[in-house]
Amino acid sequence: MDIQLFVPTFRVEECLEQIKECLEKGWTGLGFKTLAFEDAWKNYTGFSHAHFVNSGTSALHLAVNVLKKRLKWSDGDEVITTPITFVSTNHAILYENLRPVFADVDEYLCLDPVDVQKKLTKKTRAVMFVGMGGNTGQYEKIVEICRENSLPLILDAAHMSGTRLHGKHVGKEAEVSCFSFHAVKNLPTADGGMVCFSSPDDDKLVRKLTWLGISKDTYTRTIGGGAYKWMYDVEDVGFKYHGNSIMAGIALVQLKYLDQDNAYRRQLCDWYLSGLTGHEHVKIVPTAPGCESSRHLFQILADNRDELILALNENGVYPGVHYRDNTLYSMYRYADGTCPYAHEVNNKLLSLPLHLRMTRRDVESVSELVVKYAGKSRHGRTPR
Ligand SMILES: *Cc1c(COP(=O)(O)O)cnc(C)c1O
Repeated sequence: MDIQLFVPTFRVEECLEQIKECLEKGWTGLGFKTLAFEDAWKNYTGFSHAHFVNSGTSALHLAVNVLKKRLKWSDGDEVITTPITFVSTNHAILYENLRPVFADVDEYLCLDPVDVQKKLTKKTRAVMFVGMGGNTGQYEKIVEICRENSLPLILDAAHMSGTRLHGKHVGKEAEVSCFSFHAVKNLPTADGGMVCFSSPDDDKLVRKLTWLGISKDTYTRTIGGGAYKWMYDVEDVGFKYHGNSIMAGIALVQLKYLDQDNAYRRQLCDWYLSGLTGHEHVKIVPTAPGCESSRHLFQILADNRDELILALNENGVYPGVHYRDNTLYSMYRYADGTCPYAHEVNNKLLSLPLHLRMTRRDVESVSELVVKYAGKSRHGRTPR
């Protein structure tokens, strides 16, 4: 058996056709397909604004950068965030000299609204919510807390391409939503991301910032700017974060299949659920009510997580861990002890293989192995 955690699936012929178009036209950079993909994404999700960038990490950094500029935050101001996430989420806060204040997670492994309330201070400027594995968790309660306290909500939707809540694509309630189109996410390219602001002014500013602060993109300059293409102004210290037409071409193809792909992911998860529900040594992370999850991950908690992973590996099955409690990283050690549930799940969490090439039989084989080895120590004893 050889069942990996993630294997991206591409519609190769269609992707090549998109790339060929770029190469033949001689347009591989910003503009052309990046604009076409932004339109397709807005159409699919219902966001009013969307800007295609080179990664989810860039999207998150820009989200914090733009809000800090517009709302005139000071260095050292606080952003409430989660300890169970990929480091990008919290680095984005540090890039802007703000302080990540960690609130604990709930049973969905998303921010716990009760602890968020407790972590609010006079210096809180925003809340960063991560939709873990595509799950919406208690997102609506967090939206409410943000409204009551006039705080902008930043949604790290890296796992949430295609997640719907009560039938609508998630994210429009946030000040800004950030998606990732990294190779192993639900809408895989090679690298890419999308930053979706609710304010038109923020969207305008971010488009300038992703190309070094230069005020117009290449496409509109070439079409509309006539002979004076070099006569642009530079108004901000921007970044080199914009996306390119090769990635956008691939993304255009992948987007067409996103709903179909996510539906198959949910099917795989249903098969996992029938194989694992009720097993005394396996706790399945639930999906929130009203959430049609993109199902980026299928996460469980097991007391003997490390031994279980070794046993699965010996049988050719390769799970992952999403994620270590970030307060255990040297960088964030100052917050150690502030999030007890995150700390507890840190030693139990694992993500079972989940990708489009898996069959029902694969899921059943993995489930059988999990049932066989969960709760058992390597020496055959049940750990206390
Ligand atoms: C993948 C990921 C990111 C970063 O996205 P990249 O496109 O890899 O930069 C941010 N947050 C979370 C939760 C992620 O899983």
